[in-house]
Amino acid sequence: MARIQGTPVSSKSETDLLASIPDGLFIDGTWRPSGNGARLAVHDPATGACLKQIADANVADGRAALNAACAAFPSWATTPARTRAEILRRAFDLVQARADDLALLMTLEMGKPLAEARAEVSYGGEFLRWFSEEASRVTGRYNATPEDSGRMIITQHPVGPCYLITPWNFPLAMATRKIAPALAAGCTVVIKPAELTPLTTLLAAKIFEDAGLPAGVLNVITTSSAGPVSEAIITDPRLRKLSFTGSTPVGKLLLAQAAGGVLRTSMELGGNAPFIVFGDADLDRAVDGAIAAKFRNIGQACTAANRFIIHHDVVDEFTRRVTELVRTFAMGRGTEDHITIGPLIDDRAVQKAADLVSDATDRGASLLVGGTAVDGPGSFFPATVLGDVPADSRILREEIFGPVLAIVPFDDEDDAVRIANATEYGLVSYVYTENLARAQRMIERLETGMLGLNVGVVSNAAAPFGGWKQSGLGREGGFEGIHEYLQEKYTITPNPFSRHISALASCTT
Ligand code: NAD
Repeated sequence: MARIQGTPVSSKSETDLLASIPDGLFIDGTWRPSGNGARLAVHDPATGACLKQIADANVADGRAALNAACAAFPSWATTPARTRAEILRRAFDLVQARADDLALLMTLEMGKPLAEARAEVSYGGEFLRWFSEEASRVTGRYNATPEDSGRMIITQHPVGPCYLITPWNFPLAMATRKIAPALAAGCTVVIKPAELTPLTTLLAAKIFEDAGLPAGVLNVITTSSAGPVSEAIITDPRLRKLSFTGSTPVGKLLLAQAAGGVLRTSMELGGNAPFIVFGDADLDRAVDGAIAAKFRNIGQACTAANRFIIHHDVVDEFTRRVTELVRTFAMGRGTEDHITIGPLIDDRAVQKAADLVSDATDRGASLLVGGTAVDGPGSFFPATVLGDVPADSRILREEIFGPVLAIVPFDDEDDAVRIANATEYGLVSYVYTENLARAQRMIERLETGMLGLNVGVVSNAAAPFGGWKQSGLGREGGFEGIHEYLQEKYTITPNPFSRHISALASCTT
């Protein structure tokens, strides 16, 4: 058994912070208990200890939240874009002011090391700033019909009340990446964070309240009954949009529910990212990028590199270097500064990582470092490197969501493309090469929504984040992000200079 570094302690600053987080549902601008008084416990994955008990919403609470979002919609939709932008900007400023609290809270409930939690505060906050800037840049168009018979006016309108569902792995950023564009567009929202990490969303809601957001525009429900509570909201005819980030199987289930109301949907789903290193790559860069792409968030990122596809000429050197670096990682509770590998989210995640590793080694992969789960308390699995992973291993097909780096050697470019594209996912790919023509070919040949070319982290609030194939629908961030919450209206008027209009002659459909 590997030894956990650091002592699980609960300091006064942690206790004070946890006491300051609201423990109710945030509905129509007020914090309230769930209708039946039920509570849900939130745990520290590094110790298993209960951090806090909060309200556990039922179906009626979900409906109450949707009622509030529907009631607030007409007024928020017609609030000047500048006013909406200023509230988002104030929320951004407050996130900066409370950055330490937000970071510590994420480390406590999700387990990521504090340095990474601070980076998430910057990333998550950035969506508030970006969409505060985008709010007043929504444009339409006015142009003549091609035959000059009339004038076409295209305007943009908020889609209506939205339901947002977020996962546990990036508790702040996944929430702001949805809330900010929705509010900027003039939509009102109900958000349901993951039951494993709801506290960050509660603090974010407090920040919006402090920023002056009107009652009912943002509503938060925390629940251990994600299925029934969500289904009642999604099948309510007043809902106009569902935005979901999470696993592909749950995404498919929700798409089926959303079909009944023909809802607008955005789906940010799972990934199985290839990380390809060619023989001509800058190996220093490739090793740095590999560590970031694999071990960020303890491997629990949809963008995490899942399959390291490395050219035969450099595979030994690459493997030696990443293995040496991984041996230096310190595992423990993320609140301590020197820790690089925190706990996984729960024991199921540890079991899954252990199963994938043993399946690969049973089939002939070599275990170079790590590989054995650590006894509790806490849900720890060490950073692991597997060499020569056989093609039929489960680890190459399934999303690992843990700190396991699986290496597959390849011979030529066609081989690399074939291996990389052999998955139903298409979220992100990473390619390392110094050859420009090869890089251009890879941009064109890889089936992926995002591509890190000689870089190991792609996320940026100004970029359209999203996947191809079963990795999802729609984009978050960038200029595209706000359009997920807008719908076009096309109006036709006559040519103002033409006096004779023959309605029948111009009639087509
Ligand atoms: P998950 O699908 O289990 O849960 C995501 C959310 O859905 C949670 O809030 C959960 O409570 C809720 N949920 C679960 N079952 C539900 C149901 N029947 N009805 C309604 N809601 C339900 O995923 P997770 O384990 O929280 O997150 C990990 C997954 O999320 C990974 O597959 C990862 O790749 C993906 N992810 C994708 C992105 C992206 O942008 N593409 C970002 C982060 C995570």
